[in-house]
Amino acid sequence: MTGYIHSYESFGTVDGPGIRFVLFMQGCPMRCLYCHNPDTWSRSAGREITAEEAAKIILKYKSYISDGGVTASGGEPLLQIDFLIELFKILKREGVNTALDTSGVTFNADDPECVARHAELLKYTDLVLLDIKHIDDKEHAKLTGHSNANTLAFAKYLSDTGKDIWIRHVLVTGITDDDKYLNALKAFVDGLKTVKKIEVLPYHSMGEAKYEKSGLNYKLKGLTPPDRSRVLNAEKILGAKR
Ligand code: SF4
Repeated sequence: MTGYIHSYESFGTVDGPGIRFVLFMQGCPMRCLYCHNPDTWSRSAGREITAEEAAKIILKYKSYISDGGVTASGGEPLLQIDFLIELFKILKREGVNTALDTSGVTFNADDPECVARHAELLKYTDLVLLDIKHIDDKEHAKLTGHSNANTLAFAKYLSDTGKDIWIRHVLVTGITDDDKYLNALKAFVDGLKTVKKIEVLPYHSMGEAKYEKSGLNYKLKGLTPPDRSRVLNAEKILGAKR
């Protein structure tokens, strides 16, 4: 089984606990207005690699990531779920901690085959960093081009099946930075039983240059990042920890 990877970072410190090898996978069906990795959107771009080859690269760093592990990020890593099942199986055999950084957009609770594939991967996954882009479905669609139904269904599935979750939420001025939405998100998260951490990620415009370079239109041009007081406000409402 081969997968398409964009790149990797061997000493990541922001995508899960400890020092982690972060594998950035190709492909994403969403089009978040603030996405700073538009070069991951195409599934077949990037480097084609087998799960065994990927494991071999990762395991070279095994001693450095012994207090952390591996995080599959993207793009949307679940688009290449069969590749990840193979890779995570190998990593678990080697005693490596595994995490997914995902929006859960691929999870269709009404499709038993789809649920079974996700359940299979979760057998070999220790932690899910779940990106909830917007708690309001209409606003989520405006922000990402997709409904949030699959994301929220995936959150409930993870909770019901006892899988640890870190919730991640990008705070965007005028879009998600609104007490009404933050309180609604908090109410949703409070209904989940396995949330271990909530992270507020302030919007930044560092991806803008990539858009210009690839001739894409950056729709949030000129938008200022939330100031410190708004970040602290969001963290307080959500009960987030740094
Ligand atoms: S889900 Fe992630 S990779 Fe996909 S468009 Fe949104 S920010 Fe970009």
